[in-house]
Amino acid sequence: MKILILGGTTEASQLAAALACDARFEPSLSYAGRTSAPRTPPIPHRIGGFGGVEGLIAFLTTGGFHALIDATHPFAARISAHAQAAAEAIGLPLVAVIRPPWTPGPGDFWRRCADMQAAADAIGEVPRRVMLTVGRLELSPFRGAPQHSYVLRSIDAPDPALLPPVCEIVTARGPFDVAGERALLEQHDIDVLVTKNSGGDATAAKLAAARDLRIPVLMVERPPRIFEGDVVADAAGAVAWLERLHATMGRPAVPSVPRV
Ligand code: NAP
Repeated sequence: MKILILGGTTEASQLAAALACDARFEPSLSYAGRTSAPRTPPIPHRIGGFGGVEGLIAFLTTGGFHALIDATHPFAARISAHAQAAAEAIGLPLVAVIRPPWTPGPGDFWRRCADMQAAADAIGEVPRRVMLTVGRLELSPFRGAPQHSYVLRSIDAPDPALLPPVCEIVTARGPFDVAGERALLEQHDIDVLVTKNSGGDATAAKLAAARDLRIPVLMVERPPRIFEGDVVADAAGAVAWLERLHATMGRPAVPSVPRV
């Protein structure tokens, strides 16, 4: 059974590992190509956009895929919409892996922000030392708040032209632990942390570190998503979904007539 996994997340990599040695499935992984050196997965992979919904439909039909798994990031709204439209158009089974968002606990001081501009505005007029863990492609709201000094952590170094005037870069790839995150926040004397509500374990340590240090968090919430199909929370859920689909596909399409 041929499966296309839309990836770029921990869950997609876990799913690739889980399916790599399963003879029932023939999985491939697709990366957008946002990071310069993605980890090489244990299954065939491709890199780059498909060319919109039509391109994705062409890729899926030409490749003879039987199922599509949208294991992209919760903030990757466009590819998820394309996956849904393409799957609907050609009647392909689709499941979305949507990890639960983070929620604040006792001792957390979070302010929820609808988008990156709201987060930049919420830092305020008084100059602050701001840690940004928001990726490197959505920095323009912070360029509009040049009174602050920023520390940006991202997997790849950003284009310098995209940065606010005072911005130090820390390149690192998760997972991160609480001790390391605490040290990073302390070393840079951070007053406020701005992050996206990505959810998941790999990058959650910064929230515990901020709680320990009583640093406020500006939490950018996920873009709205209208999804009516099957949803699972993690790679194990996607494997279970595939197993059910595989079992269904193995059965005859027309039920046999019972003998009398
Ligand atoms: P996006 O805005 O939803 O997608 C923009 C375009 O990138 C899509 O229209 C598609 O191009 C292409 N694309 C996205 N994901 C793809 C994939 N897995 N395989 C092939 N093409 C893909 O997505 P984004 O926010 O730029 O994120 C891109 C990738 O980075 C995703 O795979 C996502 O899982 C990962 N990522 C995103 C974030 C984030 O915060 N956005 C964080 C971590 C990882 P075409 O229309 O040409 O097909």
